[in-house]
Amino acid sequence: MWVGVDLGDIGDPAEAFGITAKRELSRTDSEESFQTALRWIENCKENHICSKRLALKSRESEFLPWPSRLIDVEAFGEGDRDVRLVENDGSKERYVCLSYCWGQSKTFTTTSRFLRLRKTRINYSTLPQTFRDVVTITRRLGVRYVWIDALCIIQDDRLDWEKESVKMGAIYSMAYITIAADSGRDCHSGCFNTASTSQELSFDNTPFPLHSTTPSGEASTIYLWDPTRGTTKPTPPEIDGSPLAERGWVCQERILSPRILHYTTSQLFWECRQTLLAEDNLRPWSIYDSSSTTVCGLARNLYGTTQDPVGRANLLRIWYNHVVSESYSRRKLTRADDKLTAISGIARAFGRHFQSTYLAGLWALDLPWGLSWRRRGLVSRPVEYRAPAFSWASLDAIVEWPVVSTKSVAKIKVVDVHVELSSGDPFGRVSGCWVKVEGYVSRARVTARKRLLAGGVSVVWEMFGEMGQLPLGTVFMDDDEVDLAGQDGERLRWVEYLVLSHDG
Ligand SMILES: [Zn+2]
Repeated sequence: MWVGVDLGDIGDPAEAFGITAKRELSRTDSEESFQTALRWIENCKENHICSKRLALKSRESEFLPWPSRLIDVEAFGEGDRDVRLVENDGSKERYVCLSYCWGQSKTFTTTSRFLRLRKTRINYSTLPQTFRDVVTITRRLGVRYVWIDALCIIQDDRLDWEKESVKMGAIYSMAYITIAADSGRDCHSGCFNTASTSQELSFDNTPFPLHSTTPSGEASTIYLWDPTRGTTKPTPPEIDGSPLAERGWVCQERILSPRILHYTTSQLFWECRQTLLAEDNLRPWSIYDSSSTTVCGLARNLYGTTQDPVGRANLLRIWYNHVVSESYSRRKLTRADDKLTAISGIARAFGRHFQSTYLAGLWALDLPWGLSWRRRGLVSRPVEYRAPAFSWASLDAIVEWPVVSTKSVAKIKVVDVHVELSSGDPFGRVSGCWVKVEGYVSRARVTARKRLLAGGVSVVWEMFGEMGQLPLGTVFMDDDEVDLAGQDGERLRWVEYLVLSHDG
């Protein structure tokens, strides 16, 4: 049971007794909001493990993890709001990162033509609103540097972009704090709201008011509620249902950032590797725990040296089921070509534990399981080659992996694997990839059945053994859409399939 105390301006004496009191809100650019953010940071620095850096370097010599450039928000002394771009040799370690939507509108960027000008001075008033707000937040948090991709990467220099995009995951993971402009659709939306609102508690969990009078005769109300009741939402919808949550790149920005201040339309949220907090102090979502299904739980799993097989199997499950299936494959990318690049930072972090070849989104480690993905619902395919057909990265579709039985036995033997990298980054884009396996090939009948789903009529293929009538399961056929046209009833065909694994 938590107790909420509505004490108006008197403050929160209850907090001195360890009771969580509901906080009144004004707006996210208010003095109180900045004070709350600073308290969260201090508490995290003092009491959490979040300051510990993720080791992302595979080979020290080839991988310089810090951003090549940063924006100096104190370049011209007090009172001057202008900023400038500075080169970074790794000495400017404390910086803020911005996570935001570029959107469809024109973004203020650095190009080779404007590089010298950006290094001389950037007029504060010419910056788009989101950039201006993040400059303000950076200053208020007492940090001198901020990293914004549009300004710190030379946008028309493909080489510079390749070099910095490899580091993208590391740049977020080494940031002092990440500012997430959750509700902004583009760089003009800004970070701040104009009026904050408390989170809605579920219908069956309305706070119970206890009216009383203080010793000095003032009326006082204490609200009681149970935070464990009706908490079906895993995280605040302000974060997970936001425009930012739809962006492909944000998947790794969020998982790898050690601390995030979420600027949402309703209020400020804090997310670090140990906790998720709301400015109003309410938690009408599931209590964050150590499970890998939450962002902070997941990031914690990436720490340490998980060299034991059980730990590795757990991490592999997290990679396929949580990172790719539940998060990344549901997000959108502006450039189809970014599919592997936008997740390369997390792949690098996982790769440190697996010590296994990365095969365009899959791992050579336990390949039978990696290959057993299937897509859900609608699919689109990129025009240009992006990944081999056996990888989920070859499609733009929601994908999923089956629950693996502990009795599952691999039925293929990996003989050889081959990856041709496009950029030299072992976790980045590929121009070719194949695997050579030995295993059993069987024949089966597959039957197409039309099913009425939310999105319209869909075709489901059921597989039957050569002799039996019992279905072996459902399969996805590459030409679902073709077979759908004008067909009635069932369609049957024979297929040859490779047995990946077998239960027991
Ligand atoms: Zn923390």
